[in-house]
Amino acid sequence: MSRFNSQEWIPRTSLGKMVLEGQLTSLIEIFNQGYKIQEPEIIDTLIPDLQQEVLDINLVQKQTDAGEKSRFKALVVVGNYDGLFGLGVGKAKQVRAAIQKATVDAKLNVTPVKRGCGSWECGCRDPHSIPFLVVGKCGSVRIQLLPGPRGLGVVAGEVAKKIISFVGIKDCWSKSYGSTRTVPSFAFATYDALKNTYRIVSPTDWQG
Ligand SMILES: [Zn+2]
Repeated sequence: MSRFNSQEWIPRTSLGKMVLEGQLTSLIEIFNQGYKIQEPEIIDTLIPDLQQEVLDINLVQKQTDAGEKSRFKALVVVGNYDGLFGLGVGKAKQVRAAIQKATVDAKLNVTPVKRGCGSWECGCRDPHSIPFLVVGKCGSVRIQLLPGPRGLGVVAGEVAKKIISFVGIKDCWSKSYGSTRTVPSFAFATYDALKNTYRIVSPTDWQG
């Protein structure tokens, strides 16, 4: 479906044009140059094997002058199981439209995650976990992700576990605080933590 869309895609941004014309073929290059991705087709083109899943759907009711207005709010995760993932929300009157908006939002939020093995119990060099402890927060929710040994699995709440697996991380520990039952906050705290794997410069950056 994404390939079909990209064939009909007429880019609106210069970055989109460069991607469509094949002048830019690497997402990492786009991130390194600090471009802001404004078209989901850029992601469709550069990550054709991107997977997606709906994490949460909520009916949001709001009292307005015209009466009660209800809309669906969807939360979607996208990822390639290989170090790239995004998280997005979308609101609409219909569930389907809310999911579509959330999917576009998730694609525009795609971010790289640094994987590695920072587990003292393991010490291998494969990127099955994360390289060091990272922390993320959203609202009252805070989450810590810690490197884990091979074979551990992802030890985290259901939503965090799903998101972490979309990144391609197989083993890690987690600790969370605050109202982790609020799915969007828990999800965005996890997103924040995973994104932070690129904010810290680790000593391994200077090795080999
Ligand atoms: Zn390891």
